[in-house]
Amino acid sequence: MKIPVLDFEVYRLGENVTDETLMELSRNLRTAFTEIGFVYLRNTGIGQEEVDAVMEISKKFFLLPAEDKIPLSRTSNTCNYGWVAPETEKLNPYRPGDLKEAFNITSLHPDAAWPAEDVVPGFRQTIESFFMRCKDLSLRVLRVMALSLDIDVDIFVNSHKGIGSDLNKSTLRILHYPPVRHEMVKEGQLRCGEHSDYGSITLLFQDSKGGLQVMNRSGEYIDAPSIPGTVLINIADLMQRWTSDVFISAKHRVLLPPPGDVSTRQSVAFFAHPDDDVTITCCDGSNKYPPVKSWVYILERFNDSYGKMETTS
Ligand code: CA
Repeated sequence: MKIPVLDFEVYRLGENVTDETLMELSRNLRTAFTEIGFVYLRNTGIGQEEVDAVMEISKKFFLLPAEDKIPLSRTSNTCNYGWVAPETEKLNPYRPGDLKEAFNITSLHPDAAWPAEDVVPGFRQTIESFFMRCKDLSLRVLRVMALSLDIDVDIFVNSHKGIGSDLNKSTLRILHYPPVRHEMVKEGQLRCGEHSDYGSITLLFQDSKGGLQVMNRSGEYIDAPSIPGTVLINIADLMQRWTSDVFISAKHRVLLPPPGDVSTRQSVAFFAHPDDDVTITCCDGSNKYPPVKSWVYILERFNDSYGKMETTS
């Protein structure tokens, strides 16, 4: 199955509608999330020009010299914010470090790390406002998902109300994949190793460079190219568990460009997680998985990807 493209127009940001209006969308979303775990949504209300502006200002940040980025480094799994240098992270722990760098914004708390305003003018404002747009869209998608499962329609939304605050670890992550010099690549190294995401759902915006692949149910990787004007959304592991494996959290990866291609790649991902203190219990009433506290589960996954880091707060 290919990754479906759905029209989100009826529930785009700003539209308020009755649940009956959302039935067709919810059926199609359910099919996508049960059969492949990924979907492209168009007409969400987040315009391509907004995404382009985030990409442009992100690039300015990533092109800063390392000495400007090092003081903003991510230093702990408890506070997931900050800069992650190339080859620091192994999303597949059996491969060498990923050939990517990232900057994470976990909450909009005043203590979060930001480059100085005179170093990248407008960066914080642009990124913070995009964070909130992603929050709003995530809540809408979560609502349609609950509708599609014929459960309490607000169950997921009510568990994500703290997004953006210190009570929730949802993260906006801007990513930069520098030019690849093939003679320097280690055996088995990729731009991003095979992994599945940790939380509820992920929103992904990518430039036109390609490389992302998603594993389908037959175990084959298929391309997930950029489709301008859409957002690519996938189910993450905690949501698969929450839905007793009805929704699939599919593995994905980012391949190297072909030899000789020295182009960069950029993407922006928003990882929606439930509020830290929410207990996740199978929403069908079964006990397929024991209840788990959202933050306990997510922190365990960070420890697997980064190693157990010293926690600074
Ligand atoms: Ca991912």
